[in-house]
Amino acid sequence: MGNKVFIIALVVALVAISLNNYLKRKGETRYIFHTEWYDPVSATVNKFHLSFFPRDRSVEMYDLRAQRLFLKRIPVEGVEERDLYLGNTIVVLSRQLKITDYADAFTREQITSKRQRTFAMVKPDAVHRLGEIVDVIQSRDFEISQMKMVQLTRLQAATFYREHEGRPFFESLLDYITSGPVVAMELITTNAVKKWRATLGPTDSQEARSIAPESIRALFGKDKQLNAGHGSDSDISAIREIEFFFPSSKINDDLLPQTTAKLANNTCGIIKPHAVSKGHIGSILKAIKEEEFDISALQIFRMDKVQSEEFLEVYKGVVSEYPGMVQQLMSGPLVALEITSGVHGPQTPIKFREFVGPADPEVARELRPNSLRARFGEDIVKNAFHCSDLPDDGPLEVEYFFKILQ
Ligand code: GDP
Ligand code: MG
Repeated sequence: MGNKVFIIALVVALVAISLNNYLKRKGETRYIFHTEWYDPVSATVNKFHLSFFPRDRSVEMYDLRAQRLFLKRIPVEGVEERDLYLGNTIVVLSRQLKITDYADAFTREQITSKRQRTFAMVKPDAVHRLGEIVDVIQSRDFEISQMKMVQLTRLQAATFYREHEGRPFFESLLDYITSGPVVAMELITTNAVKKWRATLGPTDSQEARSIAPESIRALFGKDKQLNAGHGSDSDISAIREIEFFFPSSKINDDLLPQTTAKLANNTCGIIKPHAVSKGHIGSILKAIKEEEFDISALQIFRMDKVQSEEFLEVYKGVVSEYPGMVQQLMSGPLVALEITSGVHGPQTPIKFREFVGPADPEVARELRPNSLRARFGEDIVKNAFHCSDLPDDGPLEVEYFFKILQ
């Protein structure tokens, strides 16, 4: 009898110990990165090891120069696992930290397999359905980390498609791809290259409709040439194609695809970072089009504190939310838009402002339930969308993104 009790107690204890060990191990996943923070006050670059614990989304920082713990493990709002990749900038306690490298093999392995990049392009025949295509992209868990509407020159198109030089359809492909703006994107997800090719469907849109009816080419393409989208065919092509549209260092201007911004008779719109991260880009683009506004330029930007303050300067000391607005604008990628409209003509800036709605989404939901802020806003700072206040501001704000920041 005593033996039995002893054995049961022993089994219970062993189960408890191994469960505890299991939970401990499971709970201890830690990614470590090399990060840099530029301190504008001392004009120095400070280097930290940043640890991220996915279990409770907490971070810890170790100052590499001073060789001491800089920030004890603490949960931080707004830092997600998907923000952690090379080259990205994250905000921890108001500091912008640039991720410069993985600090151990485990982190490198885990993060790179989960976060592959590919290059996607919406071709001229499908740009008028950009909102719907972006919806498909976001609903399939691709993250859009770069995006730019450009007009390709013939030289650029021939360089991009040089693997097809000499093929019978080459000249006609160049005519097609330069016939209007395209939207270039860098997409990130698990096995992104393969997944994006599958999402696009077969090259021939007719064939796509019979064997992959839900694919982008089936839904938005016409035939073998006018097939709505492009996707890199391998890891190596993806790196080359991303670099072609989003060069990491300065290149020959002739080869850099230029923005389509008209810089006149326009107004400026910004899909704010929180709305981008909630996956609202597609819905907002669709809503804008439904109201007969045109998106004549579009680009993803990541603003730092200085740029964010500079852009919002006119609100400084005028609205009490200014510090929150600055924080929101620099908290992640935003989508800047140039809005024009043949339908609304000279009334475009005023009509567009009405469509964006009152600054406070609560008020917007009462007064203008169809406005962008009513539909996508959370609070007065996270109000989904910025737009130029006065007709005269539009061209200046558009110029800031599409000329000065280019
Ligand atoms: P993709 O990788 O699926 O885009 O196909 P390819 O790399 O083989 O071809 C590049 C692009 O050229 C295609 O997306 C089509 O727009 C076009 N294309 C391909 N094959 C043909 C063809 O036989 N005739 C014509 N007119 N265009 C083609
Ligand atoms: Mg190809």
